[in-house]
Amino acid sequence: MAQIRIPFNKPYVTGKEYEYLARAAESGHISGDGPFSKRCQELLEKDLGVPRVLLTTSGTAALEMAALLFRVGAEDEVILPSFTFVSTANAFYLRGARLVFADIKPDTLSLDEDALPGLVSERTRVIIPVHYGGVGCQMDAVMDCARRRGIRVVEDAAQALGVFYRDRSLGTFGDLAVLSFHETKNLQCGEGGALIINDRTLIERAEIIREKGTDRSKFFRGETDKYTWVDLGSSYLPSDLLAAFLFAQLENAGDIAARRRRLFETYREGLGPLERQGRLRLPVIPSGYRSNFHIFYLLLNEPEQRNRLMHFLRAKGILAVFHYLPLHLSPVGRSLGYKEGQFPVTESVSARLLRLPLYYELTEADQGEVIQAVTDFFRS
Ligand SMILES: *Cc1c(COP(=O)(O)O)cnc(C)c1O
Repeated sequence: MAQIRIPFNKPYVTGKEYEYLARAAESGHISGDGPFSKRCQELLEKDLGVPRVLLTTSGTAALEMAALLFRVGAEDEVILPSFTFVSTANAFYLRGARLVFADIKPDTLSLDEDALPGLVSERTRVIIPVHYGGVGCQMDAVMDCARRRGIRVVEDAAQALGVFYRDRSLGTFGDLAVLSFHETKNLQCGEGGALIINDRTLIERAEIIREKGTDRSKFFRGETDKYTWVDLGSSYLPSDLLAAFLFAQLENAGDIAARRRRLFETYREGLGPLERQGRLRLPVIPSGYRSNFHIFYLLLNEPEQRNRLMHFLRAKGILAVFHYLPLHLSPVGRSLGYKEGQFPVTESVSARLLRLPLYYELTEADQGEVIQAVTDFFRS
């Protein structure tokens, strides 16, 4: 196998991280909720215009908090797309909830809102729209369906920080939303995440759940003279060292976004001819959306062709990768009774999608090589 010369992803470090890490270490407060955690949270609250953001150890942890906040249990159903990361499902599966999978839309590859009315039941507690690859779900339709039936909405915005739908940030529509700062995301601190709380009535319990079921957050604000065990909970706070790293990324969000946009547009231009020839389909940003350019994918016409292109690129030292295997066809999904053929768009997209390298430090020359290699594949 050829050595990988162009990786799929390379986590970007702006440089400022090291200074902030040193400052955090010297400050003596490196556990959770230190000065950098507060700065990150305040910056996100201000940028998004939301009442409360709580940093978490991961996007997964934020999803688990959401399940605890809504007291999801074995009597409850949650609706989510099959085409998503395992944590979207697992956070609710951990609470014993029944997973009701839905298909995705062929253009956005995000939850198909038209499928919702046919999936909701008396037992539906939560809908989880997953925003895929730099665009996302039609949140007005999702919220309309949920609100009319008293169903809660948790946006999985792990990939969607910086995406707008109808001039409003994704992550600001649902009762709750989760972000991820995993090293594969646009802004990252290795492992990290956040819970966005749009429904103010959930703030106090969210702080308790995140602090091992204690009212410690209130205590630190001087609102109570001692802290104690008041509810269930766990430890979902990241170290302030991680927050220090993340703060440098948040401060540079504009520069990082501009670079990704540039790379995305170069791919679009370079591969546009192949799309016009009907060889493949490129990502679409439907009207009403502003993308954060998280993923640049190709949708090949046939699964077999996708696999051949992946190997063709790999032989040239370029790492292009497929994405989610449908959750409904995973061993757990099948154990829940799901079968092939139930979600045709999910199954077809999963077998035909290939993601190309896209990261801040991808050079023009390397990107040119990727475009050339994809073009050569269709000539050979
Ligand atoms: C990355 C991701 C997650 C999980 O985030 P972690 O921070 O890795 O736990 C959840 N959902 C989606 C859609 C993701 O892309």
